[in-house]
Amino acid sequence: MQKMLCAALRYTARSARLCSSYVKETRFLFELKENDDACRQALKSGSFYLFHNLSPLVHKSGNGFYAPAVSGTDLMQVLSSCGKEKVNLEDSILVGCSDSSIAKFALDVGSFEKSALEQKFPGKFTDIRSAVVKIDGEDGSLLSRAQSLLRWHDMHQYCSKSGKPTQKNVSGSKRVCPSNGIIYYPQVS
Ligand SMILES: [Zn+2]
Repeated sequence: MQKMLCAALRYTARSARLCSSYVKETRFLFELKENDDACRQALKSGSFYLFHNLSPLVHKSGNGFYAPAVSGTDLMQVLSSCGKEKVNLEDSILVGCSDSSIAKFALDVGSFEKSALEQKFPGKFTDIRSAVVKIDGEDGSLLSRAQSLLRWHDMHQYCSKSGKPTQKNVSGSKRVCPSNGIIYYPQVS
């Protein structure tokens, strides 16, 4: 009886801890989604999942696969050595955060030559379906959510009413048409 109670208490303490870190993460993400300046700040210390025309970068390590998360500094360094295309970290979209409140972003670097990037980054740009099959757990679902979001932004670059270019907020939680103020929100399952 005593033993069972102890186990139950331990379990409760653990779920309370998990729950409070979940609340913290949710608040942090909400702040970044709504506040462009906060999100800009988070871009500086964030980590980046890379996509090439909607195919995520996937690296094989031992028996498993994972999606490398690159720091902003490393990313800019590698990209500037791979081509002359202009890259703005603000083109990234926010996809989540770590337990320690490091923001996670996704960026599509499809304007760069794929083979040049694959020589510099660990891994290969892989079709999303085989990527999600290879990577289990949280990273796999994060990648597929990131890909849906990137695809949504790609398809909503123009306002459906005025035909004018829409602008993404920093986190990518919405796009706004500057000419008529219509706000587009991604609906991602
Ligand atoms: Zn419009």
